[in-house]
Amino acid sequence: MVKNFFDTKIEFLKGVGPQKASLLNTELGIFTFGDLLEHFPFRHEDRTKFYRVSEIQEHFPYVQLKGRIVKKQYIGEGRGKRLSAQFQDDTGVLELVWFKGHSWIDKSLQIGATYVIFGKPQRFGFKFSISHPEMELVTAESKPQGGLFPVYHTSEKMKPKGLDSRGVAKLQRTLLKDAFAKIEETLPEYLLKQHNFISKAYAVGYAHFPKDPQTLEQALNRLKFEELFYMQLKVLAQKKQQHTKQFAGQVFAKIPTLNTFYKEHLPFDLTNAQKRVVREIYGDMKSGIQMNRLLQGDVGSGKTIVAFICMLMCLDNDAQACMMAPTEILATQHYHGLKEHADKIGVSIALLTGSSKTKERRIIDEELRNGKLKIIVGTHALIEEKVDFQNLGLCVIDEQHRFGVAQRAALWKKTSKAYPHILVMTATPIPRTLAMTVYGDLDVSVIDELPAGRKPIVTQHRTDANRLRVFGFIKEQIAEGRQAYVVYPLIEESEKLDYKNLMDGYESICRAFPKIPISIVHGRMKAEDKEWEMQRFVKGETKIMVATTVIEVGVNVPNSTVMVIENAEKFGLAQLHQLRGRVGRGGSQSYCILISGDKLSKDGKFRLETMVRTNNGFEIADADLKLRGPGDIEGTQQSGVLSLKFTDISKDSQVLQLARETADKLLDEDPKMEKSEHSIIRTQQAFMAQKKTTNWSRIS
Ligand code: ADP
Ligand code: MG
Repeated sequence: MVKNFFDTKIEFLKGVGPQKASLLNTELGIFTFGDLLEHFPFRHEDRTKFYRVSEIQEHFPYVQLKGRIVKKQYIGEGRGKRLSAQFQDDTGVLELVWFKGHSWIDKSLQIGATYVIFGKPQRFGFKFSISHPEMELVTAESKPQGGLFPVYHTSEKMKPKGLDSRGVAKLQRTLLKDAFAKIEETLPEYLLKQHNFISKAYAVGYAHFPKDPQTLEQALNRLKFEELFYMQLKVLAQKKQQHTKQFAGQVFAKIPTLNTFYKEHLPFDLTNAQKRVVREIYGDMKSGIQMNRLLQGDVGSGKTIVAFICMLMCLDNDAQACMMAPTEILATQHYHGLKEHADKIGVSIALLTGSSKTKERRIIDEELRNGKLKIIVGTHALIEEKVDFQNLGLCVIDEQHRFGVAQRAALWKKTSKAYPHILVMTATPIPRTLAMTVYGDLDVSVIDELPAGRKPIVTQHRTDANRLRVFGFIKEQIAEGRQAYVVYPLIEESEKLDYKNLMDGYESICRAFPKIPISIVHGRMKAEDKEWEMQRFVKGETKIMVATTVIEVGVNVPNSTVMVIENAEKFGLAQLHQLRGRVGRGGSQSYCILISGDKLSKDGKFRLETMVRTNNGFEIADADLKLRGPGDIEGTQQSGVLSLKFTDISKDSQVLQLARETADKLLDEDPKMEKSEHSIIRTQQAFMAQKKTTNWSRIS
């Protein structure tokens, strides 16, 4: 005896013999009643309408028709052999063809009988034909099919054995008759009421066989919510536990230095978004709980000054701050940027990278240990074993996508008192929805506003043939005192080729601009040479910067107004957006020119069009997500985003938001789920955990 109806082996379902059961096992991993019920349709087809043969037009996606089979015959020989049938209604005739599995179809097709057929019409000359249509014999007992019809994944092996989509639907119907009353609720009653959700049983039933589009939506909405709610409960519970139990944080409440800086030295008014984020961070810093916060802000939104302000919060509380950047160029830039502010208020600051001299390095190490040095900026060199702080209070990590979790953890060890607060800054706007799911362990702050007076960057797409015109435009801009970047792609597998590309490009630019000083920076140069070239450009001594993507992140030269991207079709959307963010940082109108060949792939075209259409980083990130799917976006693998059954993370952000808020509130009110109305949640969590283990055992 099975304890639970849903654990009943699938072969015990009426209509499933040993052969079908074995196919369901091997082809779809369906072993039990429960598994079958969870094999939801991937879409529904509208079967409310019957077309007539004479109405069919070429562009129709799928049509449903009713008529008779008047003739059938085999055509062709050997591999090309096919079964052809004539289907007829009052208005005309069309052909049905089968290239595979003829014999079982041939046997079942009855001449003269009436069928409802469903399929995609194709035109051949004046006639239409439908290959491999779904067929249903119309008999005296058969009820008219109507409404939305479920479409299930099946396989080529399953179809000849009566397990095409329609066959699976039939099994689902049989199963649901008995199962419906046994489906238990998995959400607390009060949540159903509060959000107007339908019950679990109805949701499952309608997800398979909706009455109409509204009930389908109600069903999916509830199932999505449930899926996300349980995911968020897990993610958030982990986070809350970490914060309260393991990681007490240093309390940074005194901020006189920061107040002085604010009143006397702030170079501009902060935007409202910057102010809000500073408040959020200050809230964390004085809370006594270690901060783990992701600071998202589009390129140019002013994350650096926010970081500096947060660093100042440590300093009056006997703590030090560090900022870590992914490249030397960037670390150096940050250092110069921050030093300008730090000097105004007499705060000590230093730079530490792989190319720091041993002597400098000894002094830095010493002063970090005795606490004389307050702010340190650097690359990975900062997390080496040798570097010790007197008391590291805050670590700012810029452009998080280059740093792994292990490196974050290494930093946590660098302090004697408590774990340092962590602020991770990124300009790669992981869509907000995704950030919420992926970085369950980080709080998220967003600077969603650019400083006033910024003019949107004008982006244009040009082909190779227009390059001289583009050069002409660069000349005009330089004549007006501006500077320009010309960027080439560098892709690992063709590194040599790309290098040649870059050098050829550099030469042709030198020829086109004989009187203009030009810089070049690429990955094969020594760090100090790169830095020297970069500084020449920063100071305005050179007017054009020819570079590979080393300048992708962070570089800040407000006088640059032109970004030319060669072979733009080779770049991903996130990268293109990052590169474009290098211009438009001052008050002048800036331009981004994307150069590509004439021929573009569909995706390549979509990327360039997206860039031309919008400057909004979040829109771009969403487009990127749609193009690549969440699987490619870093961090999503571990998060379980990929195992979502109902939710499309790029579309269902509202449900996600609701699920997250609901889970958060619930955890605050009843962290251990002790209230009686929450026992249902504990049961469901236990069930989900147990199901995971059984699934594993099946794979062996
Ligand atoms: P990102 O967020 O891309 O790191 P930065 O911090 O480099 O952006 O800032 C971009 C530019 O905008 C810098 O030149 C910076 O000085 C300037 N900036 C930042 N905040 C403001 C503001 N509130 N008002 C005016 N300019 C600002
Ligand atoms: Mg930056």
